[in-house]
Amino acid sequence: MPVDHPTATRHDHHGRYPEAASVEDFRHNLAEVQRRIEAACQRVGRDPVSVRLLPVSKTKPEASLRLAYAAGCRMLGENKVQEAHGKWQAMQDLGDLQWSVIGHLQTNKAKLVARFATEFQALDSLRLAEALDRRLQVEGRALDVFVQVNTSGEASKYGLAPEDVAAFVQALPAFSALRVRGLMTLALFSSEAERVRQCFVRLRELRDRIRQDAPSGVELDALSMGMSGDFEIAIEEGATVVRVGQAIFGARALPDSHYWPGAVPAEQP
Ligand SMILES: *Cc1c(COP(=O)(O)O)cnc(C)c1O
Repeated sequence: MPVDHPTATRHDHHGRYPEAASVEDFRHNLAEVQRRIEAACQRVGRDPVSVRLLPVSKTKPEASLRLAYAAGCRMLGENKVQEAHGKWQAMQDLGDLQWSVIGHLQTNKAKLVARFATEFQALDSLRLAEALDRRLQVEGRALDVFVQVNTSGEASKYGLAPEDVAAFVQALPAFSALRVRGLMTLALFSSEAERVRQCFVRLRELRDRIRQDAPSGVELDALSMGMSGDFEIAIEEGATVVRVGQAIFGARALPDSHYWPGAVPAEQP
């Protein structure tokens, strides 16, 4: 990876993304995000097909999600399971639309995720792994999972401490309905690009370190990191999944602190 990084965060752009209100708007926004993904890949010599764009539709109404679907989206990310489950129920007519739950999950809501999600990106405890596995066995389903890692050290962020991930991963083959894909993180919310980048570097280095000793059947190739404000930096540091909401759907009405207690508005550098 290059040592000289000109890429800035865009956390201060939040609130400026206009609401996507037509299929055309979604096509335009998706193309623009894709263009930014390709430019970031080009800077570090990566193939853009190695980066999956996961559009994040949380807080947006069903009508917006249907427009995103019409513009080609076939998997949507939601961070609250009840909201996601409700949308899934309302959109059963879109048979090939898949759901990725990307936010913290309480063990007692595992059964909802087991019912409808294709992917869960916030696995952070064995209790939860066990609950998910049990419910998935009942449903006769399997789930792609990412282990969430707290790379920023902020007490407000969910996820395992980096030093606990290797042992955690060793225990996961016991849960046969969980297909472990990789690691996920939320970086520091900051306009200081270098501090944000450090979170992504930490996740990649952790993945590289524990991948060699990963138990068989546990795949640790995927790195889910980067959102509207920082996905280009994440790609420069190896992201294989970027979770992008506002740059596709438009700004959310509620501030980030509503979703991530403790998140503060971006500081100026
Ligand atoms: C909301 C959310 C995102 C997307 O954030 P945007 O600023 O809308 O791009 C990414 N990851 C998680 C876990 C989220 O909850």
